[in-house]
Amino acid sequence: MRDLAVLVENDYHNQVGGSSNMTVMHSSKKRRDLIAATVSEIEDLAPRVRRVRFAGSSLVGIDWKPGQKIKVEAGTKMRSYTPARVDTKAGWMDVVFFLHGNGPASLWASSVCVGQSARFKRPVKSMPSAKKTPDWAMFLGDETAIGLAAALLEDLPETVQVVGAIEVDALDSEAVEAFGLTLNVAIRQQQHGAALLKWLSKTKFPEGRGMVWLSGEANSVRALKLALAKRSPPNVKFRTKPYWKNKGHAHRKALENMDHLSHH
Ligand SMILES: Cc1cc2nc3c(=O)[nH]c(=O)nc-3n(C[C@H](O)[C@H](O)[C@H](O)COP(=O)(O)OP(=O)(O)OC[C@H]3O[C@@H](n4cnc5c(N)ncnc54)[C@H](O)[C@@H]3O)c2cc1C
Repeated sequence: MRDLAVLVENDYHNQVGGSSNMTVMHSSKKRRDLIAATVSEIEDLAPRVRRVRFAGSSLVGIDWKPGQKIKVEAGTKMRSYTPARVDTKAGWMDVVFFLHGNGPASLWASSVCVGQSARFKRPVKSMPSAKKTPDWAMFLGDETAIGLAAALLEDLPETVQVVGAIEVDALDSEAVEAFGLTLNVAIRQQQHGAALLKWLSKTKFPEGRGMVWLSGEANSVRALKLALAKRSPPNVKFRTKPYWKNKGHAHRKALENMDHLSHH
């Protein structure tokens, strides 16, 4: 049976709902452990995609592995983000924020300035990287997963053939290349994820042992996983991690269906 690991995060469910329990949990005890850094660089990769560099002595020697997440403090809320590139010697960490414009973290990243202080929880496990080096790797995701793609793919040896696509709005089409990712760009059509499904339907899978990472919007991740389960060759490992959900969609149902899939 293929390895269809479904990784779901409690923080993901909580942060989307912004539940009061979560606010209480974050309010005192947890915040004492936050790492303090300074925003040392800001680069607009595209109108709504921004690279923010956190720097400081607290990041020198920090324990970080590709695919891990941090939680960034945005006012009274904490939101999950993915260190995209980290230099533990120089003491900096780049995070790629999608500025969707409608939430505390998105607003924080839109208005942050160089020199401003920032706080976040230290990196913890989230999306697993490849345990064994595959012959080829595929990454599919949206704007929120640009950092994840960079972290995971840049960790692979150069011998690994990398394919994949990031779905973005036409407005942000240059973001992927601007961040130095060599993945294809799939321009979003009306429905989130449709462009990636189209990309997938036209893509020939490479030969050998494969590793597929899926991330981004929850319902798109589910649809892509279904499509992949139908036509990907054997010898492929899947790792999925929904990063956010479109409001109003039945996220819990979508994840239940993904679980169901793994029994086929
Ligand atoms: C492990 C993990 C790692 C993540 N890494 C990154 C990362 O590196 N970069 C990144 O940009 N995001 C990342 N995300 C996604 C990010 O945490 C969410 O998008 C988060 O909801 C943004 O917080 P907010 O305060 O701006 O909005 P929220 O207050 O959480 O949400 C407000 C509203 O905006 C909607 N919304 C949330 N995200 C989006 C979106 N992307 N597009 C459109 N509408 C949205 C929600 O459905 C809600 O209606 C990650 C998520 C997880 C679980």
